[in-house]
Amino acid sequence: MINKEGWLTKAEKHVSPNFDQRPINTDIKLIVIHNISLPPENFEFENVKKFFKNELDFDSHEFFHEIRGLKVSSHFVIDRTGKIYQFVSVYDRAWHAGVSCFNNQENCNDFSLGVELIGSDNTLFEDNQYDSLNMLIETLCNSFPKIKKENIVGHSEIASGRKTDPGPFFDWSKIR
Ligand SMILES: [Zn+2]
Repeated sequence: MINKEGWLTKAEKHVSPNFDQRPINTDIKLIVIHNISLPPENFEFENVKKFFKNELDFDSHEFFHEIRGLKVSSHFVIDRTGKIYQFVSVYDRAWHAGVSCFNNQENCNDFSLGVELIGSDNTLFEDNQYDSLNMLIETLCNSFPKIKKENIVGHSEIASGRKTDPGPFFDWSKIR
């Protein structure tokens, strides 16, 4: 269930400052699936949480120099156990898609919801992650009827040439 303020009651809430308002009268019609691990191939949630809250110490790992100062977020994160976290209200615009285009409409952040799976382009995802993702998709589709089945896409599909996630190990057949 999504409450009046746009938060999934089942998710653990961590408020990110990295969001703003969607354009007026925008229908939410797209779900964008990503993967993330910080540093790459480290599947702990902690650094992702810090990154989305602008609390990551960019000097604590060599890789973090590449993302220093970036301000991003996603509505949802699903960790390796299937636990769901939410950082931005579904009614607000999270900063996950970047330069992007879906069906000739640019700036997908305006009309989409972002879901990050902890993982990488090189590793299978866990069954618990698919279970939670399916539950989440069902809840979101019930709340936003403009999200059709074909409007559930990978980041790589809306930012091709720039992004590769959720990657070849994401099994689309496991999404109902
Ligand atoms: Zn992505």
